[in-house]
Amino acid sequence: MRIAIVGAGSVGATAAYACLLRGVAEELVIYDVNGAKADAQALDLTQSVQFARMASVRSVGEPDGCADADVVVLTAGAKQRPGQTRMDLAADNVRMCRDIVPALVSASPDALLLVVTNPVDVVTKAALDASGLDPTRVVGTGTVLDSSRLRVLLAQRCRVAVQNVHAYVVGEHGDSEVALWSSATIGGIPLEHWGPALGEAPSPAERERMLAEVREAAYRIVAGKGATYYAIGVVTARVLEAIARNERRVLPVTSYLDSYLGIEDVCMSVPCVLDGHGLAARLDVPMTAGEHDALAESAAVIRRACTAVGA
Ligand code: NAD
Repeated sequence: MRIAIVGAGSVGATAAYACLLRGVAEELVIYDVNGAKADAQALDLTQSVQFARMASVRSVGEPDGCADADVVVLTAGAKQRPGQTRMDLAADNVRMCRDIVPALVSASPDALLLVVTNPVDVVTKAALDASGLDPTRVVGTGTVLDSSRLRVLLAQRCRVAVQNVHAYVVGEHGDSEVALWSSATIGGIPLEHWGPALGEAPSPAERERMLAEVREAAYRIVAGKGATYYAIGVVTARVLEAIARNERRVLPVTSYLDSYLGIEDVCMSVPCVLDGHGLAARLDVPMTAGEHDALAESAAVIRRACTAVGA
């Protein structure tokens, strides 16, 4: 498995580090418009290989140095500054994506494209259009991160391991995202039937507070330390692992939805099955009318943002 990481900033470097520690790839190639930064990250990462699974890490000075990658990961571009929303980055990052994606695809025509750059749903749409690739081969990390944030909060509230909580956040990776409470389960128990051994099921008001906390997580982290990177780094590695190992893993990644439960023509997150070829299937998760309406509204938010930047 050869993975090319485009963008050697906090997210790109942390994703590469997580890939090394999890043994996801035999070869990591790192490209950044700032060549010195790419070189430095590759050197630093190379010096961690002795303590991880065997792999090679190298930097390249041009996009075509990423040739023959199995997956190209886009983490380059502007990041949120305190007070900015992800959507505020759309114009700059869509422009960057249009500049760089054609060269990346021509160097690695058989690669899958994994978008991390924000706003990830809008940039995934721009990357899909700029790449000319089949929609099954272009995905974004989407709400895998937001779902893990929700699972952490539910696990803490219900006092069980986060691995025993199953709950999706879907729609935009951003302010209009939707929690699918009606399909959430803990240890196989539907959330609404949770209790009484470890407390009652979270009330509607508590659920609202949890979703608000998920939506605000990035703002809090950016305010405190300038960027989010550990969780998205390991999310990126986990998505790559599902591809590298042909796992058919269910993950709520961003993909192009021509039609999903009546919602059309938008890139956003719903639970998908990922294998070695990319997107193998989408799951029609049962949802309440309220959840479906919120998902349709989230799609409309993303579509408006795409229209504003011509994506
Ligand atoms: P960063 O500023 O640390 O790194 C960005 C890197 O991109 C820089 O090294 C810069 O030189 C490089 N770059 C810019 N334009 C380039 C180009 N045309 N070609 C190659 N390299 C280029 O930022 P970061 O914290 O690593 O964040 C990167 C992106 O990831 C941002 O858009 C951020 O919002 C996003 N992000 C997404 C998620 C998610 O869940 N999807 C989570 C966190 C961050």
